[in-house]
Amino acid sequence: MSKVLVIGAGGVGSVAVHKMAMNPGIFSDIHLASRTVSKCEAIGESVKERTGVAIGTYAIDADDVEATSALIRSIGPELVVNLALPYQDLAIMDACLATGVNYLDTANYEPRDVAKFEYRWQWEYQDRFKDAGLMALLGSGFDPGVTSVFAMWLKKHKLKTIRTLDILDCNGGDHGQHFATNFNPEINIREVTAPARHWQDGQFVETPAMSTRQSFDFEGVGAKNMYLMYHEELESLARFVPEMERARFWMTFGDAYIQHLTVLQNVGMTRIDPVIYNGVEIIPLQFLKAVLPEPASLGPTTKGKTNIGDIATGEALDGSGEKTFYVKNICDHEEAYAETGNQAVSYTTGVPAMIGAAMMLTGAWEGPNGEGGVFNMEQFDPDPFMDMLNTQGLPWTCEELSEPLPF
Ligand code: NDP
Repeated sequence: MSKVLVIGAGGVGSVAVHKMAMNPGIFSDIHLASRTVSKCEAIGESVKERTGVAIGTYAIDADDVEATSALIRSIGPELVVNLALPYQDLAIMDACLATGVNYLDTANYEPRDVAKFEYRWQWEYQDRFKDAGLMALLGSGFDPGVTSVFAMWLKKHKLKTIRTLDILDCNGGDHGQHFATNFNPEINIREVTAPARHWQDGQFVETPAMSTRQSFDFEGVGAKNMYLMYHEELESLARFVPEMERARFWMTFGDAYIQHLTVLQNVGMTRIDPVIYNGVEIIPLQFLKAVLPEPASLGPTTKGKTNIGDIATGEALDGSGEKTFYVKNICDHEEAYAETGNQAVSYTTGVPAMIGAAMMLTGAWEGPNGEGGVFNMEQFDPDPFMDMLNTQGLPWTCEELSEPLPF
């Protein structure tokens, strides 16, 4: 029975709060704060209608550490779940330290002026959280999040060592728009236009954005082109699964998406440095976000499935030589929408955020000897998390493949 404060009322925040309300034995008192309070209220109404649970709603600018600390103090939660944007991570961690409350997020910190994500800034909080006896859990979404739990489950149950790991993220959904992103457009476009990086023989190898393409036949979706990208779990996986020779992250994009993105890039609309327009400083990418559809608005029209999983090759635990396993989840956009009013990209992130919070609040996941600190998903027993995926709407399967990926 625990009190929780969620910050961020976008698609992911909406799913997490709905799923928390569906688990009243763990989340007995739910509060939601965000920059625009009307979005919290709309989520509150939907939660009440679907589950009968009433939640508290508040306006907050989470960049303001003092104001966030005051809000946390007035509510008194055991845990703050940060589902705002990566820019707010450090400010919310500071507010948690100031008020003595545990912390969870789904995306690692990014400074606004450099399109670069690294765990370094948040790992530097390790001593402060440890000294305060508080726990911070980083990256508890699907990717990052479940993809790391999948890898650790394979290491626990199937493979003694992982030699190669490929994370395959396919969104086979069609929202009927010419161009739209399935989560925050600014964060999504910064991620996609950044150079690709993969882990190879102890170091990251950089290649130009979207320059490596493969086709893969995704169950429930069909054959799709997928592109090599950098994704933040590669950094934590490289740290916690040090034997890996190679780790890569792939994401599918349709030709129309790539065409639109190429034009937007060529004309400078994805720039994140300020330009002067009519005497006012604007960031082109932020302006672009303002004219693109809100991801949350895509829910009613999106059809199709997501299919996200890990393919790992390594030495089998049972001594039978080298083996390849594929663990994945397939999620249906329309089913996700029917349950929480949000499409599958928000659903596949919001459900693991709720599960990560449940792991912390029930004590299933805690630091060694109950100590605090800043933790990644790879540091905990994957089993209770994998069990909850099955019961909370993201069932997974594991199959043995006859050979490693041919590319
Ligand atoms: P949205 O843009 O839909 O929602 C973000 C919410 O945060 C909005 O309600 C926004 O308010 C609020 N917000 C922004 N800035 C502040 C601030 N300074 N103070 C308070 N609230 C603020 O994003 P999503 O819901 O799609 O994504 C949420 C998070 O999840 C992001 O960090 C994203 O990177 C991450 N994510 C992680 C994934 C994973 O698998 N690990 C996958 C997808 C997303 P307003 O409405 O006023 O703009």
